[in-house]
Amino acid sequence: MYDAIIIGAGVTGGLTAMTLARYNMDICIIERENDIAMGSTKANSAIVHAGFDAKCGSLKAILNVKGSKMMPQICKDLNVDYQNNGSLVIGFGDEDKAKLEELKENGIKNGVEGLSIIGRDELLKLEPNIGDEATCALYAPTGAIVCPYELTEASIGNAMDNGAKLELNFEVEAITENNGIYTVKSKDGKVVEGKIVINAAGLYADKIASMVGDNSFKIHPRRGEYLLMDKECGNLVSNTIFTVPTKMGKGILVSPTVDHNLILGPTSEDRIDKEDKNTTPNGIASVTESAKKSVNGIDFRMVITSFCGLRAVGDKGDFIINMPKRGFVNAAAIESPGLSSSPAIAEYIVDLLKENGFEYTKKQNPVTTRESFKHFTELPIEKKNEIIAKDPTFGNIICRCECVSEGEILHALRTNPKPTDLDGIKRRTRAQMGRCQGGFCSPYIMKIISDELGIPMEEITKKGNQSTVIVSKTKEGVTNA
Ligand SMILES: Cc1cc2nc3c(=O)[nH]c(=O)nc-3n(C[C@H](O)[C@H](O)[C@H](O)COP(=O)(O)OP(=O)(O)OC[C@H]3O[C@@H](n4cnc5c(N)ncnc54)[C@H](O)[C@@H]3O)c2cc1C
Repeated sequence: MYDAIIIGAGVTGGLTAMTLARYNMDICIIERENDIAMGSTKANSAIVHAGFDAKCGSLKAILNVKGSKMMPQICKDLNVDYQNNGSLVIGFGDEDKAKLEELKENGIKNGVEGLSIIGRDELLKLEPNIGDEATCALYAPTGAIVCPYELTEASIGNAMDNGAKLELNFEVEAITENNGIYTVKSKDGKVVEGKIVINAAGLYADKIASMVGDNSFKIHPRRGEYLLMDKECGNLVSNTIFTVPTKMGKGILVSPTVDHNLILGPTSEDRIDKEDKNTTPNGIASVTESAKKSVNGIDFRMVITSFCGLRAVGDKGDFIINMPKRGFVNAAAIESPGLSSSPAIAEYIVDLLKENGFEYTKKQNPVTTRESFKHFTELPIEKKNEIIAKDPTFGNIICRCECVSEGEILHALRTNPKPTDLDGIKRRTRAQMGRCQGGFCSPYIMKIISDELGIPMEEITKKGNQSTVIVSKTKEGVTNA
């Protein structure tokens, strides 16, 4: 019997698990996929928004501003990449300038610090490659970038280091409640029981809520397509460059990433299918057109991949964080700025539980930090040599594009939450994420996974389920005629 069951191992479930695991609580995180961060958290813009555009007084506004203030310390403690690079919403003429003034006023009301409207001269000083037609901008120095899956991995890992359990491949199909105890059942017959259930199931949060009789909201997907550019383009801009937001979203941005790539997107298109993550020629064309207008000199030959993320858009216009039934908490409709808000959402949930009589004491000495070798390649040579002397696997480079060593891959395989497939290694170490997208290193990584986890090569998958990479050994079954 658990004190709390968290459904969904995205950034909302992750930060909530980390926060609750600092209390004397038994926690279980359950996730339908074979790894963490597989929903909206996997494919988004990775911006820690300053918080100027959400409607004043909304949960989105309050939790965004609070979350963005909490983010630097959390990232420091957990060794997660975070960069306070600032953001610029650029305008193309007087009409846009008036909208930027409105955004600034809204931001001030939301409690965002340091906002200012700047003209083209100042804009050029900040961003020499800004588009020729940009005339003005709203500058938000508190805007930042983060790695969403690293944040999720680290927060779930920290929760696990503090005793939380992670159950992957557990697709919740039914929830029943009896005398304050919830029984959560998976599609394939697994069962967990708990006193509290936290519904952080992203796009499917409406389905989970309906399992306890809460049909008060609906979630639909809003697609967002992206282009990811090679690191050679990473220095084209230093701030995140937005266009003026519309009711469909924050506009198409051009931004550096914490891994020094350049990201362009997203589009914004309402759909019905909650699984449609394909990119489209039209989507990519509109990303390209908008990015070209915002920033000069983008070399589109440097695109290394395209992808699509799905926003979990609710029908209430705000995050839905409530307790419709004693012990059952919704953390639903966590669309943008959900990543930025995630630390504050977790605290909001703790407060909601306390208000409803679910109060727990804090652990005396919880684990609060986390080791990471993600930037091994950037260490000074003396430091690298010191590490290699202790563990020679750090001297064996496996991914040439991203310079990831065997030691880093082994560290990932031995650290909570442990990956079991190629994509899990990719998200944790960046191996296979570079220019060749794993063309060179994936067989070597498979061998490391196979040796470390004792899985035959033929059973290693790219991303769980049926996605095995090889069928048999090349000459197996071949006999000399
Ligand atoms: C295109 C796009 C751009 C965005 N840009 C930003 C940005 O720059 N900044 C920002 O702050 N926010 C941004 N967001 C929003 C942000 O990505 C989300 O708010 C955040 O990732 C939501 O996290 P989550 O954990 O609530 O949901 P998810 O990450 O979707 O996690 C939900 C999890 O629940 C699991 N699940 C679902 N059903 C079940 C079930 N039946 N049983 C078990 N598990 C289940 C899913 O597999 C999934 O892993 C963006 C979103 C998108 C799509």
